[in-house]
Amino acid sequence: MKLNQNYANLRDSYLFKTIAQKVNAYKAENPEAKIIRLGIGDVTRPLVPAVVEAMGKAVVEMGDAAAFRGYDDGGVGYDFLLDAIAGYYKAKGVTIGTDEIIVSDGAKSDVGNIPGIFAAGARVLIPDPVYPAYVDTNLIDGNEIIYIDGNESNGFLPSSTSVSTPPALQPQPNASVKADLIYICSPNNPTGAVYDKKQLQEWVDYALRVGAVILFDAAYESFITDKTLPRSIFEIDGARRCAIEICSFSKLAGFTGVRCGFTVVPRELLSEDGKTLLSLWKRRQTTKFNGVSYITQRGAQAALSDSGLSQCRENIAYYQENARIIGAALTKLGIKFFGGVNAPYIWLKCPDGRGSWEYFDYLLNEKNIVSTPGAGFGKNGDGFLRLTSFGTRENTIEAAERL
Ligand code: PLP
Repeated sequence: MKLNQNYANLRDSYLFKTIAQKVNAYKAENPEAKIIRLGIGDVTRPLVPAVVEAMGKAVVEMGDAAAFRGYDDGGVGYDFLLDAIAGYYKAKGVTIGTDEIIVSDGAKSDVGNIPGIFAAGARVLIPDPVYPAYVDTNLIDGNEIIYIDGNESNGFLPSSTSVSTPPALQPQPNASVKADLIYICSPNNPTGAVYDKKQLQEWVDYALRVGAVILFDAAYESFITDKTLPRSIFEIDGARRCAIEICSFSKLAGFTGVRCGFTVVPRELLSEDGKTLLSLWKRRQTTKFNGVSYITQRGAQAALSDSGLSQCRENIAYYQENARIIGAALTKLGIKFFGGVNAPYIWLKCPDGRGSWEYFDYLLNEKNIVSTPGAGFGKNGDGFLRLTSFGTRENTIEAAERL
């Protein structure tokens, strides 16, 4: 029996393990310390009343022989949820067909599974720094990763013109890399940076030129308040011919523990030999996944109802105020940061040229604040640190005061 050797290429997931070890060691030595966690990307606000009510009703239905539901036959989502998602897009000014939406148990699964419908060994562009799941899933699949650098000079928003071709692949200087897949995360985890329409148009034009598919991770789109910023890649001309969008109820509706997301694959998106990616992705999902529970889908539908959305927006506004409080404290200290507006993450530059882990230790030991070292999100993350706005107001205010 042989194992998938690609697993040997994964870096040890030391980041959160090391953070936990350091926090536990500090707690053991300082049992009285009140530690505030501003490191994790998990939400703290509870499910909104509209969702709780809808899920409760669905549970009762499941206990009634006449209303009971078993497998979701189509396997890609009940019509009531597909309609609600299409309506959510319509309100953003984007028209998508209900047949183009595939409901899943969350964005992480879709982000990880989607490379599986492309040929093995695909050449994949991945921003650095970024959500680590993109890198690991493509390493497991044996794909070739080319990192695109996010840094201070491009505001952590790498552009297609910054794609540097490894010399061995370069037919002529500055030729476009012939990528197969491009991950774009906007608003970005961990930097909080958000692409504008012009920047995304450049990516779409590039993808169309080289025949690549953009995998657009819109997990944090609900945090965008600036109306000029795109909340969907499908706001961009030509995107229906080159992009797949992955989205989630996790941050929109606090579903991190409930589990629901969806992917939109436009009908126009074709492979080189004319196959629709939509039918391939549906085939993949209905073969390897048996659909999201009825109760969860009713909850997701309720989150997108008028009352559900306004309740969810109250929670998002709560986190946004937390981000503002942290941002104001950093500004007062003269610490440079990115994000914090239109995103739940604050990406700060460690003062005095300190490294991520050095500053992490300082905040833990001197201020009893847990953060996430930027180095855990890619090489360009060193010297930076991620704080999140997902804490409670009380803790956020106290952390800001300690800072
Ligand atoms: N995409 C990004 C960029 C994320 O940061 C996360 C979670 O933090 C996910 C996807 C995962 O979302 P889900 O909870 O829907 O799996």
